This record gives sequence, C-alpha cells and structure tokens, in this order.
Amino acid sequence: METLSDNCRVLISSDEIQDRVRELARRISSDYSGRNPLFITLLKGGFIFLADLVRNLSIPCEIEFVTASSYRNGTQRSADVEISAHLKSDLEGREVIVVEGIVDTGHTLVNLMSRLSEQRVKNYRVCTLLDKPSAREVEAPVHYVGFEIPDVFAVGYGLDFMEQYRNLSYIAELSPALGSGDPGRNVKKPEFSGSSAEPVIAGRSGRDRHGDERDHR
Ligand code: 5GP
Ligand code: MG
Repeated sequence: METLSDNCRVLISSDEIQDRVRELARRISSDYSGRNPLFITLLKGGFIFLADLVRNLSIPCEIEFVTASSYRNGTQRSADVEISAHLKSDLEGREVIVVEGIVDTGHTLVNLMSRLSEQRVKNYRVCTLLDKPSAREVEAPVHYVGFEIPDVFAVGYGLDFMEQYRNLSYIAELSPALGSGDPGRNVKKPEFSGSSAEPVIAGRSGRDRHGDERDHR
C-alpha cells in the first residue's frame, strides 16, 4: 500500500472512487446499450480511470489512447496544449467517449475536440473522473463527471505532480504549501447529464501549436 506523504491529504478515498466509477459505468452502459463506443483516453492522467471504468461496463467497447502535452510543469497552468492523435482506429462515423482524469481550464478538451472533428467522428461525449468547474477558461462540455472538486491541485489515481503520485489508489490534494490555500473538502457528485444532453456532433475549430520540452500529462 502506498503511503501518503506529509504534503498531501486525502480528498476522495479509494472506496468512494470505486463506487462512483461503477455508477458511471452503469450509466454509460445504459446510455450506449446495443452500441459499441470507442473510448479515447488522454494519457497519462486517464489511464487508471479508463482501466477501472471499462472493466465495469456491460456493453462492448473499443479503446484508443492519445497523448496530451503542454508546458505545464508541476502545478503551473498552460493553455498551450498539443494533442498527438495518431490513432490506429478509423474514427469516421464512430461514437466516441473521451475519458479524462481531470478537466481544469478546458483547453485540452477543446483541442482534442477539433481533432475529433477533423477525423469525422459521428458524435462524442466526455467522461471525466474529476472536474474543476471554477477553473474553466473555455467552454468544454462534460457529460459524465465523477466528482466536482474545488480549485486545488489533485494527485493520485493516474494524476501526477512532477510524474509522482500516479499510483495512489485515492485522490489527494497537495498541501497549501504547494497548492492554493485550504478550501475544505467540498467534493460533489453531480448528476450525469449524459442521458439528457445529446452527444456532441463535432464541428471544426481550434488550432495547432508546436513547441519543445513538452510535459506529457
Ligand atoms: P486543462 O487543459 O483542462 O486545463 O487541463 C487538463 C489537464 O491538466 C489534465 O489532463 C491534467 O493533465 C492537468 N491538470 C489539471 N488540473 C490538474 C490537477 O489538479 N492535478 C493534476 N495532477 N493535473 C491537473
Ligand atoms: Mg501532469
């Protein structure tokens, strides 16, 4: 069992995560009953969430991975996102579910959406374990949210700080010394909007950016 270091405190326990992932999987299985969605997961942060999510599905599915990179270093934000989406699957006409570990400013999702549009998917929804709505800078629709959290820096269950902590089975908040104050636990489990909101029919938008020294998320 991994140990929690002094500068972290538990935000969401392993049991809470597992219960919520099962709820999400049930909901997605019901919404996509009789279909075969393609789960596109953002590396690295989404890898553990995806693994638990798909093992709780009762529908067939396929899986792909894309890598999101940015100049984000540690807890610093950056809107400069690059997505490498050299997928083996042909996306044309597919129903896609994008799986993210956390949605923060929304720039990563907006960038990925423009890629999906270019590849002419039939539609997509977004499923994220964690959502920080108060940090949003651009509109990014999320249909399935595990937990809404305040604007803190979260680690664990796939999410890193300087590549550490991804292996924690729970979500922890980095302490005020490294993060941003003490907002209290304040974790919410929002209603899924998956059934009520139609999947997004992707339209073209966005731009490409290039650069060096990318930090793979
Ligand atoms: P966005 O583009 O929405 O601002 O950021 C999404 C990405 O930023 C996530 O996939 C993740 O890599 C990183 N990120 C944003 N907030 C956090 C956080 O609280 N903790 C960690 N570990 N990564 C974060
Ligand atoms: Mg990271």
